[in-house]
Amino acid sequence: MSLKIYLNGKLVAREDAKVSVYDHGLLYGDGAFEGIRAYGSVVFRLAQHIDRLYETCHTLLINTGLTKQEMIEAVVATLKANNLTDAYVRLVVTRGDGDLGLDPRKCRGSANIIIIADNITLYPEEFYKAGLTIVTVPTVRNHPEAINPQLKSLNYLNNVLAKIEANNAGVPEAIMLDGSGYVAECTGDNIFMVKGGMLKTPVQGRLRGITRDAVMELAADVLKLDVQEALITRHEFYNAEEVFLTGTAAELIPVVKIDGRVIGSGKPGPVTLRLLGLFQQAVRKDGVKF
Ligand SMILES: *Cc1c(COP(=O)(O)O)cnc(C)c1O
Repeated sequence: MSLKIYLNGKLVAREDAKVSVYDHGLLYGDGAFEGIRAYGSVVFRLAQHIDRLYETCHTLLINTGLTKQEMIEAVVATLKANNLTDAYVRLVVTRGDGDLGLDPRKCRGSANIIIIADNITLYPEEFYKAGLTIVTVPTVRNHPEAINPQLKSLNYLNNVLAKIEANNAGVPEAIMLDGSGYVAECTGDNIFMVKGGMLKTPVQGRLRGITRDAVMELAADVLKLDVQEALITRHEFYNAEEVFLTGTAAELIPVVKIDGRVIGSGKPGPVTLRLLGLFQQAVRKDGVKF
């Protein structure tokens, strides 16, 4: 049976899930998205994902036409229609159909809303066991007054360019710096370092990840670590005891080498592994049950 896709209020077969070539999400990357995960019939922190989506849409002046509660119900309905209890959900809102100019006022109809629930693709298991080798790339994260990195917008060329540089270097992920040269984040994941009982993560230039927030809370509340958001240089990351990345798809993934420098013991560290275990327990409880 083919996947059912939510498209503007209807659940349609994958083959029928189509939008216009005049859609401004396609023509200009004019829209917003979320990557969400369900674990054992719980959509992890769905309300927080919807809040972030609506903040992005608010700044972009896109009206979804749905209340937040209706959007939550649409995500759950999509999972149910596909009999998926564990899944990755991609929620996309585009400004809708316009003309060939970029003026958003020409998009007179409603936004296009797309929800795809599918099986998850993770990094291969050996990456979690051995840890990632990553590099810093020349493409810097968007300036906050150009496209604020807080926007999870459909315009991700900044990150795509960095990913190409990672691919060219033969590594699975890349560190992006902010405009001042501090570490910002990776192409689709936040970054953390552990040192001397302290957990640190960049304070600016990055998207505020929902996995990031959850991990910061677990580290403070359960592990009693001193958790700080700070301006962090590559030098500090090179000399950390442990480094890991967080994101909805990857969860927590250890990093063992950055720009040729071995991190700590060169193996996934104890704090990273404990936080991963705590996170995997939390995701089955903290969210919208269906
Ligand atoms: C989505 C995303 C993340 C991770 O955020 P989560 O809410 O944890 O999935 C980090 N960085 C970027 C650039 C992202 O787009």
